[in-house]
Amino acid sequence: MTGTKAFDGVFTAGWMRRFAEAVAATEEELTRFDQAAGDGDFGVNLLTGVRCALAALDRLPPGRQAAAVPLGAAAGAFLDEVGGTSGPLFGLVLQELAAAAGTGPLTGPALARGVTAALEAVQRVGEARPGDKTLVDALHPAALALRGCAPGARPDDCLAMAAAAAAGGVRRTRALRARRGRASYLGERASGVPDPGAVGIALLFASAGGVPRTLDVVLLDDTAPTDAPAGGPDPLWGPEPAPAGP
Ligand code: ADP
Ligand code: MG
Repeated sequence: MTGTKAFDGVFTAGWMRRFAEAVAATEEELTRFDQAAGDGDFGVNLLTGVRCALAALDRLPPGRQAAAVPLGAAAGAFLDEVGGTSGPLFGLVLQELAAAAGTGPLTGPALARGVTAALEAVQRVGEARPGDKTLVDALHPAALALRGCAPGARPDDCLAMAAAAAAGGVRRTRALRARRGRASYLGERASGVPDPGAVGIALLFASAGGVPRTLDVVLLDDTAPTDAPAGGPDPLWGPEPAPAGP
């Protein structure tokens, strides 16, 4: 192929394989975060998910596929075979990406629709809001960044923007106190630690463009200008509601 790149199943299968490599390379660090902010099984859960996803990719028929096919295969693996809270939630994210891709190639608008639908699905199931220190804090800025992506932009460029925005969201989780999931039982013990699920989501987007072998790409703030814009009403959520009573 010359010049243009096809964003079909070859791209999405490569993306899922790079994500699997990135998770294998960073599993110990992911585990450490969940030891500090949860029960310590997140690294293993995510590694199980990507290994099952790889096995599902290997079972696909040979030949060129639509972008949705590898995404759907990976989604099924996470939904059916992975434990913990994160397994089904990552499954939902991949399932919504597959649904938004439809039968065609991956596009910027499809990614924006898919990540917005993923955010809605995760929130329907888990009821977390932005700021609760969950993977919503990475998905939400990624959805915003993708909605800001020009309709004709290359999907890999859109995914790079989503990765930078998600990483910004991850870094903001360090200062948050968990209000959902196991981390919410730990109170201050988890403060200073990024939310492991959010790190995993940022790693997913970062893997679209290469294989992150450390979490530096997520945790080091060298992408500040592409973080979610500060101030102004949030186009997805509108103004924050007044906090509920004690
Ligand atoms: P468990 O908490 O069951 O051990 P994992 O360790 O697999 O699950 O995943 C933990 C991650 O799941 C957290 O870091 C957080 O990002 C995510 N999570 C937990 N509860 C929720 C929720 N209600 N909504 C969204 N994400 C959640
Ligand atoms: Mg856990």
